[in-house]
This record gives sequence, structure tokens and C-alpha cells, in this order.
Amino acid sequence: MGAEIYRIYAIKYAHHHRMARDNFIGGDIHDGPMPIDYFVWVIQGAGRTIVVDTGFDRAMAEKRGRAIVRSVEQGLTRIGVDPAEVEDVVLTHLHYDHAGNHHLFPKARFHVQEREMAFCTGRCMCHAGLRHPFAAEDVKAMVDRLFEDRVRFRETTDTLYPGITLHRVGGHSDGLQIVRVNTERGWVVLASDAAHFFANIGRELAYPVVYNLGDMFEGYRTVRRLAGSEDRIVPGHDPQVLAIYPPAFDDAVGWIARVDLPPTTSPTY
Ligand SMILES: [Zn+2]
Ligand SMILES: [Zn+2]
Repeated sequence: MGAEIYRIYAIKYAHHHRMARDNFIGGDIHDGPMPIDYFVWVIQGAGRTIVVDTGFDRAMAEKRGRAIVRSVEQGLTRIGVDPAEVEDVVLTHLHYDHAGNHHLFPKARFHVQEREMAFCTGRCMCHAGLRHPFAAEDVKAMVDRLFEDRVRFRETTDTLYPGITLHRVGGHSDGLQIVRVNTERGWVVLASDAAHFFANIGRELAYPVVYNLGDMFEGYRTVRRLAGSEDRIVPGHDPQVLAIYPPAFDDAVGWIARVDLPPTTSPTY
């Protein structure tokens, strides 16, 4: 194992109430309330701070009927990160809940899969069903950054820094990438939307927002393989993350968790 060891914070910024049947293709025989949380993640260590995804702001929350609990900026501030100083932002994909808050990171380089940029600026966006999870303003902000030389296109399997690797899985969005991070307890995989919930991956049930179902199912296997064990997979939207991982601070219960540390209990599927 390499020398670089990182801490990882999962920061919840928004919430949405929904039913389990809304989270799985084919529904769920155990239908009932199954709310969704919205997160950004921060990787820190070896003198580096890397933000993974940028969330959405209040204007977008209003437009999409979501509830901001605490803004992304508040979460970053709580862990001592000044967004204006952040140099590296990984965007797992460009859906509205992962690629907003454009004003927050004026100095950052944005690491993204070339295929994601091609996807959200290409002919698939002629179809309302594929266009819906994207916001034109987020895509336009990325084009502006591209012309400011602030976009770094990553290889399908790439090393961001020693101990941090990026892997395109596609499926949910064509250029979706996941982030694997070396921690005290070994590799931890930030699955982002390659696994919205523990149940998507644990029960191999597809999430209904999908571009390529085959890639989505393959992605579940890739996440498992890269993590090595189930307790080192961090899903992108599951409220259980905040319940099973230790809070980053005493006052951050239900808000910010340390996912580089081992979970204290197992999730339910
Ligand atoms: Zn998504
Ligand atoms: Zn998402």
C-alpha cells in the first residue's frame, strides 16, 4: 500500500422525501418511505484537499423541489475548507445535483471524463428523458471552464494523486466516474451515482435514471471489485451513510461523517 493516506468527509447538503418504488427499476416489493440524501465529499491528506462533486444551490433546489439542509459552503466551512482556495474538484458526472454551485471554486481545476462532456453536449440531449437530470447552466459553466483551461479530462482509469484513482463506469450517465481513495483501513470507494443506495448494489437493483443498463450492472461489480469488501463502498445518496459512519464532529451528527473510518454498524438492504 502506498504511503499516502487520506481522510474522507461525506457532507450532506440536501434531502428529498420519496418512496422505495421510485428508487428501483421494477419497483420494490417492500415499498415504503425511502428518502434520498444529497452529498458532496472531501478528501484530505498528504497536504492536499480534493472536493468530489459540488452539489446544487438554493435556486436549483427550488426549481427541482428539493430541500437544502445546510449549504455545500456551510459544510465545507465546518471542516475548515475555504472553497475559494480549493485547487482540485472531481466531478463524478454532470447531473444537476453533482455539478452546481459554480461560484464556489474560482481557482479549481475540474477533473471529469471526456465522455461525460461529450454526452451532455451531444445528441442524447435531444431527448427530454436523458436531458432531465442535467442543468444547462452547469453544462455551460463547464464549457466556460474549458475555455479558461480549467478542465482536466481524465483517462477511463486514471491516477489523480498517489492513493487516489478515478474509474469510468458509465451506466447511470455515460461518463460517470467513481473515486477510489487510500485510507487507514485500505481502499474506500466513493461510488457516487454508481450506487445511489446500498440496496442498488447489495440487491443488484437498477436505479431508474439510466443511460446504459448493462454498464450500470457492470458498474456494481466494478465498485465491489475496487472496494474489496462491502464495508468500503460509500453509496452516493443513501441516508444510512450518516447513520453507520462516525460523525466528523460531535455537532455534525446527521450532517458530516468520516467515511475513511470503519462503519460502526452494517447497512440494511
Ligand atoms: Zn446522477
Ligand atoms: Zn446524484
